[in-house]
Amino acid sequence: MARVFNFAAGPAALPEAVLRQAADEMLDWHGHGLGVMEMSHRSPAFQSIYTQAEADFRALLGVPANYRILFMQGGAIAENALIPMNLLGDRRGADYVVTGSWSAKSQKEARKYGEVHIAASGEAGGFTHVPAIETWQPSADPAYLFVCTNETIGGVEFGFDPDMAALGRPEVPLVADMSSHILSRRIDVSRYGLIFGGAQKNIGPAGLTFVIVREDLLGRAHKDCPSAFDYKLVADNHSMYNTPPTYAIYIAGLVFQWLLGEGGVAALEARNIEKAARLYAYIDGSDFYENRVAPDSRSRMNVPFFLRDEALNATFLEESTAAGLIQLKGHKSVGGMRASIYNAMPMSGVEALVDFMQDFARRKG
Ligand SMILES: *Cc1c(COP(=O)(O)O)cnc(C)c1O
Repeated sequence: MARVFNFAAGPAALPEAVLRQAADEMLDWHGHGLGVMEMSHRSPAFQSIYTQAEADFRALLGVPANYRILFMQGGAIAENALIPMNLLGDRRGADYVVTGSWSAKSQKEARKYGEVHIAASGEAGGFTHVPAIETWQPSADPAYLFVCTNETIGGVEFGFDPDMAALGRPEVPLVADMSSHILSRRIDVSRYGLIFGGAQKNIGPAGLTFVIVREDLLGRAHKDCPSAFDYKLVADNHSMYNTPPTYAIYIAGLVFQWLLGEGGVAALEARNIEKAARLYAYIDGSDFYENRVAPDSRSRMNVPFFLRDEALNATFLEESTAAGLIQLKGHKSVGGMRASIYNAMPMSGVEALVDFMQDFARRKG
């Protein structure tokens, strides 16, 4: 059976080479006579998988030595609660920059645990841009300032690593949900206090959550924080306070190896720029489709677009699916279409999508 081009927002496409290797190793990992799913997480074999995955993730992102990498469970949505539980300490609350559905959800959850101050919001513009950092207004003494650097649903992406020092607030830790663009572009990890996300967009299987946290932020957990989600306990136990999602970590490790083999994050970033440019250029040049996000805030990973004649939506989805281009339906809160073009989506997939869109527009326009 031929593989389709999968434009799902998440769980999303994985590199074919990774799936093939996992299939080859399913019954017998490296001559050990058993598969990774069946291994004790404390066995030397799994420990080597874990150590390599963590080292490769660190190398790919250039994570400085004073940051810990945690592999957790619960997804990014659980982190919306775990972050205030772990970071509020004796502060009354935290600041949030709201740029779309995900950061809106994050600030709402945080209100269960402390006071939330909205430091900036893109709501007035219909969440079609990232508010310029010069306009952000942090509160007096927040525990942290939260951003979602790629809004998966609205297709709004930060094209920069926010600089709290330039904002005059170097002491405020910056916390970022990078679920849907981690490893798609180079970032300066040192600008952030904590970076987190679910794995199922750009890393691997659902069920794995990554947290990259600066060491000085550990040890502030609220007394009611479950032990399995206390960042310090998780860090002290090398993410094995309880049984970690071993198979998901293994697949993530294969993806990291694949990324290194492709030339690392810089090489993927160059490819992602090209892929996104091709798709946006076609959309902008067409009078059949449109994208409503401000050009400087457009996501390279999630490209929402609309047919100007929305009556054709169902036909577009039927025909694209039949052509092997699947999961193009937009999120229900936005409507229209969305093409998620993560690291694992090759340029040939974007070309196939543009060809289909062109042909569809010619026939129906
Ligand atoms: C997908 C996504 C989430 C939700 O992640 P879960 O793993 O379902 O909890 C949160 N934030 C962003 C930016 C996402 O893309």
